[in-house]
Amino acid sequence: MSDKSFAANGERVLADLNALRAMGAYRTGVHRPTFSEPHMRSLAWLVERFPEAGLTGSIDGIGNVLGTSPKPGPKLLAGSHLESQNFAGWLDGPLGVIYALEAARVINSDPFAGGTVEVAAWCDEEGHFGHFLGSRSYAGLVSEADIDAARDRTSGRTMREALRDVGLAGRARVTAGPGRYVGYLEAHIEQGDTLETGGLAIGIVTSIVGIWQYRISFAGEQNHAGTTRMVARRDAGLALARFCVSIDDRFPALSGPRTVWTTGHITLDPGAPSIIPGRAEMLFQIRDDDPAVIDRLETLLRAMAEEATAEGPCSVTMERIRTGTPARMDRKFQDAIEAVSTVLADGRFIRMPSGAGHDAQVLATIMPAGMLLCLRSEALVITGTKTPAMPTSSWVRRFLSKLAGACWEDRLLPPGNRLTRDLLWSMAFT
Ligand SMILES: [Zn+2]
Repeated sequence: MSDKSFAANGERVLADLNALRAMGAYRTGVHRPTFSEPHMRSLAWLVERFPEAGLTGSIDGIGNVLGTSPKPGPKLLAGSHLESQNFAGWLDGPLGVIYALEAARVINSDPFAGGTVEVAAWCDEEGHFGHFLGSRSYAGLVSEADIDAARDRTSGRTMREALRDVGLAGRARVTAGPGRYVGYLEAHIEQGDTLETGGLAIGIVTSIVGIWQYRISFAGEQNHAGTTRMVARRDAGLALARFCVSIDDRFPALSGPRTVWTTGHITLDPGAPSIIPGRAEMLFQIRDDDPAVIDRLETLLRAMAEEATAEGPCSVTMERIRTGTPARMDRKFQDAIEAVSTVLADGRFIRMPSGAGHDAQVLATIMPAGMLLCLRSEALVITGTKTPAMPTSSWVRRFLSKLAGACWEDRLLPPGNRLTRDLLWSMAFT
């Protein structure tokens, strides 16, 4: 049996990615929000591909697609998501699903492979209805009440209505069985610029950051913008602006090397040009992979709110509205990806935390998980895993070499087909 017959097929991978790109195509990217017609079409399309990989599956009651194999032996779960942000990039999500599908086609048809690859497309990773509803449902972390409460942030349509509209109401939700998998692997385009600016090809994810979010409110006094003298004002909008600047002045001394913070939303009340705002509010977010750093910054933020209130003229209150536990990626997965990157990417790899959230952080709560980031403009991949349960790494090496053979050496995209700057930007919003 020649090894060639079980090599991954780069052209097939590219054709699959382009097939998905055509579903909800918008300019250079796609518009395929959760439970839209093109999203449902993409899920059905994936289910139709499963027999080619020796898998069977269907769309479950929350929109997850999971292809499983009846074969005994070790199993690796791999995948990503198929919906997109509104008007976004075409590789964000599909890349990881199609790499997983190709790995399953190759490995599952190889009589000498020591394991099986199963494929998942997690619903709503992009958070149209909530945070990681699909993968969290699979992990047993979503209640029926959570689904009752979920609502499309763009249209306001409830999740119940959406499930009914697409014919999924009443369908069972699939949840993880204990011990089925040796682990979960996800490939994803990098949404930052670490690889691009460093001349690197592969990012080996060490951890996925947690996201903490705060509502910070400023109370002053609403008044007439023409008749109220400057010294008499209690301008909540001005207090908010000062607070934002103060954060930028004081956070760096206590932050970690990759801490990021963002004021993503500001409201002024009443928000009219001739009225001094009596109230103001900002939504503020901190991301880091070290909870100790977040602790320090949160303490500082509270102290700053108290200081600002004491100094006046406005009072400042702060409320934490979201916390996220950073997820550590499995060390063995990291080592396996590094081993193959050393050979096939000429050592152009880096171990790095992911500043964007991914389903792998949810899967990491129930099984070993690994993640690799691919340079967007080359859309290449090396995918692999290491199975702690197996005495040798032969299966791992086969897995890696077959997939990498097609996806790295053949290059998925012809050299002239580099993605445009606009597309790269649109991919950055996850
Ligand atoms: Zn994604």
